[in-house]
Amino acid sequence: MDKVKIENAALNIYTEHIKRGTPAKSLAKIIKAESLWFSEIKSDSNSFLGALVKVPDYPPHIIVRNNITPSGRKNFTIAHELGHYILGHNLYNTSIFCNNINEEDETISKQENEANYFARCFLLPHDRIIKEFTNWFRYRVSQTSNVFLKIETQGSKWQLWKAVSGNLTKKFAVSEITLKIRLIELKLINNF
Ligand SMILES: [Zn+2]
Repeated sequence: MDKVKIENAALNIYTEHIKRGTPAKSLAKIIKAESLWFSEIKSDSNSFLGALVKVPDYPPHIIVRNNITPSGRKNFTIAHELGHYILGHNLYNTSIFCNNINEEDETISKQENEANYFARCFLLPHDRIIKEFTNWFRYRVSQTSNVFLKIETQGSKWQLWKAVSGNLTKKFAVSEITLKIRLIELKLINNF
C-alpha cells in the first residue's frame, strides 16, 4: 500500500472523529466509535507491546500492555494497532502480535512499517504538524538546506530543537522519536 493511501486513511479517521483537541487523546473515543474492543493487560514479557485480535463472533480487539512508558509510546502502540485494523492487514491465524514496534527499524515487515506510518500520520496530522512546527520560526533557519530547519546536535540550534520538540511532544502526546521521524518525513528537519 502506498504512503499516500495510508496518510489518507489516517486523515479520514482524524476528520471523521476529531473536531478539536489532540488525536492521541481521542484514541479511546475512536476505538469505541469503530466498534472495537480495547483492553490493557499485564504482561511479564518485555517484548510484548500490543496486538490486534479477531476471533469469530466477536468484535476486533486491540490489546496493549498496561505499563508501557512514557505515555507517548503507549499512544503510539494503540495508534499502530488501530492502523493494522484500518488498513485491513492480514492476521496470522486470528491475530497480529506486535512485539517490537521499533519505528527506526526499516527491516521489520511491510505491515509493521505501514502500521507505524499510519500511527505517525494519525497522531501528527499533516497540516497541523506543519503549521505548529513552522509557527516557531519566522524565517528559514538554514537557507542552504533542503529541509526547513537543519538541526545541529550542539549549541543554540540544539537548544532550540529541545525547546520545540519538548513543546510539540507534550502538545501532541507523542514520544520524541515519533515527532522526529514525522518531521524528517515531511522534510521539516534533517536526519540527525
Ligand atoms: Zn504491529
